[in-house]
Amino acid sequence: MPFAVGLTGGIGSGKTTVAELFAELGAGVVDTDVIARALTGAGQTAVGEIARRFGPQYVTADGALDRARMRKLAFEDARAKRDLESILHPLIRREAERQVANSTAPYVILVVPLLFESGAYQKLVRRVLVVDSDQETRVERVRRRNNLPREEILAIMASQVGQAERLRRADDVIRNDGDLAALEAQVAALHRKYLDLAAES
Ligand code: ADP
Repeated sequence: MPFAVGLTGGIGSGKTTVAELFAELGAGVVDTDVIARALTGAGQTAVGEIARRFGPQYVTADGALDRARMRKLAFEDARAKRDLESILHPLIRREAERQVANSTAPYVILVVPLLFESGAYQKLVRRVLVVDSDQETRVERVRRRNNLPREEILAIMASQVGQAERLRRADDVIRNDGDLAALEAQVAALHRKYLDLAAES
């Protein structure tokens, strides 16, 4: 099993951006959000399971999960959210594990937004890297990226582990309140560290 580092952080902290910088330096990147989207695309088995549980109105004309509709239901109905997760999470977890195991990169960055919330990934990773950023900066980034109302962003944040708890459990931290150059410098330093750790392991 390759040396794997779990990358997490709240919504809008910069996980995707940081993962791309690691990939440019040669790290393997496995992203559970990307896997989730692939597993709910047209004709995937998860879509059939979701349709059986929630009804065909949650499937688009081309056979993919209707994400906007499902997100709305999950947001309003805690039981529906749990059921959706019980269908998707084991599939995502299995695929993430497969991709990590198959990677030929010197080490793998495994992006898991809910790393601390789920627990299932902690066995897969040797270290945890947290991307940290001020709440206001994160709200503003997500507002611009997803065009979501502020209340909805704050509700998502409230459902996630708080930044203080995340930092307490981190092995490494990247601060993302500055520009991209500041981010690149931190990623480059950690990349060297992870290459060393991977070589020792
Ligand atoms: P996450 O994956 O943690 O939700 P993203 O990496 O998608 O966060 O970042 C959220 C948004 O903010 C994206 O549109 C991204 O391009 C932008 N962003 C992230 N970090 C910076 C930064 N240091 N400078 C400018 N824009 C940034």
